[in-house]
Amino acid sequence: MSAIDREAVLAALRRIRPPDAEQDIVTAGLVTGLVVKDSNVGFAIEVAPEEGEAFEPVRKAAEAAVRELAGVTSVTAVLTAERAGPPEGAAPSRPTSPSQEAAAQAPRQRPLAEGVGAIVAVASGKGGVGKSTTAVNLAMGLARLGLRTGLLDADIYGPSLPRMAGLSGRPPAAPDGQKLAPLVAHDVKVMSMGFLVDEDAPMIWRGPMVQSAIQQMLGDVAWGELDVMVVDLPPGTGDAQLTMAQRVPLAGAVIVSTPQDIALLDVKKAVNMFRKVDVPILGIVENMSYFCCPNCGHRTDIFAYGGARTTAAAMEVDFLAEVPLDPVIRELSDSGRPVVVADPDTAQAQAYMELARNVVDRLEGAERKPAPRIVYA
Ligand code: ADP
Repeated sequence: MSAIDREAVLAALRRIRPPDAEQDIVTAGLVTGLVVKDSNVGFAIEVAPEEGEAFEPVRKAAEAAVRELAGVTSVTAVLTAERAGPPEGAAPSRPTSPSQEAAAQAPRQRPLAEGVGAIVAVASGKGGVGKSTTAVNLAMGLARLGLRTGLLDADIYGPSLPRMAGLSGRPPAAPDGQKLAPLVAHDVKVMSMGFLVDEDAPMIWRGPMVQSAIQQMLGDVAWGELDVMVVDLPPGTGDAQLTMAQRVPLAGAVIVSTPQDIALLDVKKAVNMFRKVDVPILGIVENMSYFCCPNCGHRTDIFAYGGARTTAAAMEVDFLAEVPLDPVIRELSDSGRPVVVADPDTAQAQAYMELARNVVDRLEGAERKPAPRIVYA
């Protein structure tokens, strides 16, 4: 039983009237898909596609009005252009989370990143497991295989790809004057919020802001024709990640983990998250798999080596590569020269090349998806 009364939510929304409209948004039948779960509220506001941008202040006002209600901790309102159910007042609540529900109802209306062949997410159940390091080495490995590659830093809470790719400065305007041109490192086109804000500046993002930032980095950047785009997702499996997994037309996901049991629990959550939204799991990478002493070459399994392989088998997903814990990997990627390009003959670089080849194999094996489409909410 929810502590928040649906009627109270609707009453708050009845205070919202779009400019020039005669009726409030509830009376006009524009509010659909209202979900109240615990202290979270989600709903959609129906708009004509061409009115999307003009309705953004209405969406914000609606969110703010509901957020003021006692007991509400989060509100997610999305704009949708297709009727996703009966107007509120009649629709029964459903047992999904608000943002899931709202996102599921958003129509696929505006194609973004049209020339991109396949978008591959690099994800992890938690932070600090080497997801971004894997993403940058994977992207550069794919470029070394001859693929036209992009790298989108969607880890907007801690955008580290500019530093890892050795890029700084602001992206210039593209020749069309409308979009930004990505920066390029080792044949990979890169876009990151880190180019636009200071790496040290604290960034506080609410769910809808996360999505619009990602959508802008996809849609307002002149990516050109790409065979593959690697997207470094924020760590974790919360609503923001779930929504992103739904909104970005992913060809597949690579999940990065360290071998400890505790990290592997998070892998299971990540696998389940992608399965829930029908994104194929390309496989799991075990990072910091073992340690090779740089002096004597002796190998030590610091964590329970092979944990990710076992978890992959148990969850019936492929195991893509194991990457050693190696100071060289850290030094090179933290100084902007990922090992896969800085020292391509080493075993460490070879591990990432194996990952890149395995990803290509699985993308080729998978049925080719139509040109990516993404939604403006
Ligand atoms: P995440 O994106 O999961 O938060 P990062 O990729 O930012 O993790 O990695 C966290 C830190 O660990 C970075 O300093 C990175 O250089 C280091 N690191 C990642 N993978 C390895 C590895 N295989 N060996 C040594 N250091 C690593």
